[in-house]
Formats: sequence, structure tokens, C-alpha cells
Amino acid sequence: MSTLSVSSAYTKIRALVDNITTDALPPPSSIVAGVESLPANLTAHGIGEEATERHLLSDICPGFNGPKTSPNYYGFVTGGVFPIAEVADNIVTAFDQNVSVHLPEQSISTIVEDKALSMLVELLKLDNGKWQGRTFTTGATGANVLGLACGREAVISTRLRAAGESQGVGELGLLAACARAGVKEIQVLTTMGHSSLYKAASVVGIGRASVKDIPFSAREPWKLDIAALERELKREQDGIVSIVALSAGEVNTGRFATTGSSSVAQIRDLCTKYGSWLHVDGAFGIFARSLPENAEFAALRTASCGLDLADSITGDGHKMLNVPYDCGFFLTRSDATLSAVFQNPNAAYLATSGPSSIPSPLNIGLENSRRFRALPVYAVLLAYGSAGLAEMFTRQVRLARGIAAYVQESAEYELLAQGEDEKGDYGNTHIIVIFRARDEVLNRELVSKINETREIYVSGTKWDGRPACRVAVSTWRVEVERDVELVRGVLEGVSSNG
Ligand SMILES: *Cc1c(COP(=O)(O)O)cnc(C)c1O
Repeated sequence: MSTLSVSSAYTKIRALVDNITTDALPPPSSIVAGVESLPANLTAHGIGEEATERHLLSDICPGFNGPKTSPNYYGFVTGGVFPIAEVADNIVTAFDQNVSVHLPEQSISTIVEDKALSMLVELLKLDNGKWQGRTFTTGATGANVLGLACGREAVISTRLRAAGESQGVGELGLLAACARAGVKEIQVLTTMGHSSLYKAASVVGIGRASVKDIPFSAREPWKLDIAALERELKREQDGIVSIVALSAGEVNTGRFATTGSSSVAQIRDLCTKYGSWLHVDGAFGIFARSLPENAEFAALRTASCGLDLADSITGDGHKMLNVPYDCGFFLTRSDATLSAVFQNPNAAYLATSGPSSIPSPLNIGLENSRRFRALPVYAVLLAYGSAGLAEMFTRQVRLARGIAAYVQESAEYELLAQGEDEKGDYGNTHIIVIFRARDEVLNRELVSKINETREIYVSGTKWDGRPACRVAVSTWRVEVERDVELVRGVLEGVSSNG
């Protein structure tokens, strides 16, 4: 049916990627032309593979934005793609392994996936013996769904067992389980929880309205108020049970809900005492644990310290690890809870061939058929090692701090999300810088003016109810001095033309 040469197409793709200017955004005309080139409808016979290849390369590709191809795309938290990760991802497509059942005599894929997960656990300075429940997901949103699903299973099943029931939520369903366990409500306690946490709460039947913010103060809203936490957890006497979700790397500020080992230990003790599940959303922030162990990063390592006391952790591969979309991961110390939720029962044809320490991925995560998204992660961890990745994380943090320092010193801009006594101290700056223009009129248009330059791309957000601008550094292509100068130039240009 096909005569297309994939390898010659791939050479053309590479040439296109390599020739793209480093602009963060494509020219608007390229997007318009691309949209105009789309067919009106599905046709009966198609246009053929060769014409389609030409269309993809010359009409669609020019309309893409530059998180991968530009070193200066600072929107969202996108990561870039390491060349070795791109190679691995193409292997994934070329061989199209379905990593769902552990079949060690038929494919090496589940064994490599398991190795990638254990290397990842090492990179995060967690104990492989304790973090046995682990799987790759489509992203941090997927991992947060797993986290809340596990939390829901654990907090209700503990009470079911106390009531003499042997089955959990996975068997009984949420409504019957809650009725039998005397649970009236499940709440998720957090600070500045990522929007995906609310979505996850909806997906697992807890509800978006059940996510509660318990900030320490208006000045430091990312920090969890431990006294308020205890008050909320105590409501379990009234049948209101809780899952705690720590923001470990809050998306607007990069700041952490906890302030080090002793604060996490306190939260852990409270969760244990009141039968709550402790989840960490560390999509990008969890990698602060992998920074070099020196004075430059002491504050960040302290902030991310102690998170190994949690029951579960969400992380993203497609952000800080610079692997292609889509890739996230979920880790839990309770592999029993993970399989209680995700067991895919009674399908003999999906059974693994014998006893093994590697679980079939389809029994510990959402999907049955799955992409081999572990391979790019494996390739990156193998190629760079912990010190190689720490060197990249170092450059990213230094660029963010360089931008923060410029913003703080400039007369035109104001650095936001600084805690008590932190003026002029960027030790808590990870990879995100949030700021605004002092001039109200400029501030309202700041994000669009910056992005109109197309030299860098930033995200807009709100702080204290007013518009703010956010830079997130996450690509391996960072060159600190070059990029600080570029960002400074753009910000100076925007404020002087304002
Ligand atoms: C990006 C992010 C998410 C969502 O991740 P996806 O990979 O887009 O699903 C969740 N939590 C935090 C803190 C994030 O930064």
C-alpha cells in the first residue's frame, strides 16, 4: 500500500528543524497560510502519501511555536527536547512497542521501563526500596489523577477495614464504600494547587469544589498553614476525610508549600494520625532535589527536603527532563494501593508469563495499551547521569535568578512572590520568575508586548488579582549570560517604547 521512504522524509524533517530561526513564535502569516491549506473535508481517496508529506512539511511545520527549537521560549513550563531523547522517541515510534503486559521473553520494553523508573528514583534522591509503586503517565495531570485515586482508595479503605469490610473503593465503588465507611465528604487540602489538581478531583469523583486552599499568609500564599491543616484533618471525626496535596514547585512562583524536613515531618505525623494521604505535586519542582549540593542551591534543597515522607509524588518528564511530549510519572510508597485501584482483572490473554518483580503496567496505571514513553527518559538518564543533569538544572536556575536580579534592580519592573525578609535574596528562586511592570498601563499590555517581539515568549498570570508576567526556564539550551542579556534587552525595549 505504501512506497513512502520514511528515512528520506526524516532527513527533510531534520533539515527543517535545523533551519528554523530561533524565534520563540512563528510569523503569524505562517499560521494563517497553514490554516488556509487545510482540506475542507475528508475526501474519498485522499491525496496520497507523497502529497501529504509535502503538505505536512511545507504547510503545517512552519506554523509551530518554538518550545523545542528556541532557547528562549519561557511560556508555561514546557522543557525542550534533548537530541538523544529525540532519537529515543523516534525508536519508540519506529518499533511501536505496546508496553502494557510484562512479557520478559517477548520484549525487553517493560524491563527497560522498570530500569528507567529506578534510575529516576535515584535522580530524585529517593529510596528505591521504599518507592516500589511507580509508573509513567501522560503527564503531571495524569499523575495527579493517580495520586488522588490512590488517596481516595487509601483513606476510605482504612475506615472500611476498621468497619470490618474486606473490599475497598476499587471493588465497591465510591458511593457504596463511603456509605459503609461512614464517610460523608472527601476534601483535598492544598496551597495554590495546580489547575490539574482540581480536574483530577473532578475525575475521581471528589469534586473540584472539595479542593481547599489553606495558605499560611497573604504574603506567602504558597506555604501550607500547618495549624489550619490540623483543624481540617480533625473534621474526620465528623466523617470528612482528607487528602493533602503539597505544591512542590507551585506553577506561578516555583515556590514550595513546605519549608524543609521538619515541616514535612509535622505534616506527615498529622496525616498518619488522622488517616489522611499525603500527595506531592512536584511536576517540575521535585527536580530541585537533584541540584548540586552546594551553598548556591542550599535554600532550594532545604525547601524540597523531606518530601520522601509523602505517600505519593507526581512528576513530569516532558518539563525538566527535556523528553518529548507526552511523559509524566507517578511514584508511591504503597504499591498495594496503586494496584488496588488500577488492577485490570479477569483478562487471561493479558496475563504475564510468570512470577516477576516487575508488575504489568496495565495493572498499575490508567491505560492498557501504552506508548513506550519510558525510552526517552532512559536515554536521557543514561546519557547525562545525575551530575550531567544537575549541570543543566544549574544553568536553568542561574538564568531564572539572573532575570530576577534584573527585574528587582530595574526601576520599571517589580519582582513578585518574594517571601518575608527575602529582598535581594534569590536563593528561593528555582526556574520561575513572576513580575509586573510598575506602570499600570504598560502592565496591562506587558505580556502581549513582550510576546509581540517574538524573540522570547512568556506567560501571563495574575498576582494579587492584578495581571502579572511569568518566565519559566526549562530547556537544556540555556546559556546563562547570553539569555539574561536577551531577556534584559526585550524587557528594556518594551518599557522604553511603552
Ligand atoms: C505542568 C504542571 C502540571 C500539569 O502537568 P501536565 O504535564 O501538563 O499534565 C501539574 N502540576 C504542576 C505543578 C505543573 O507545573
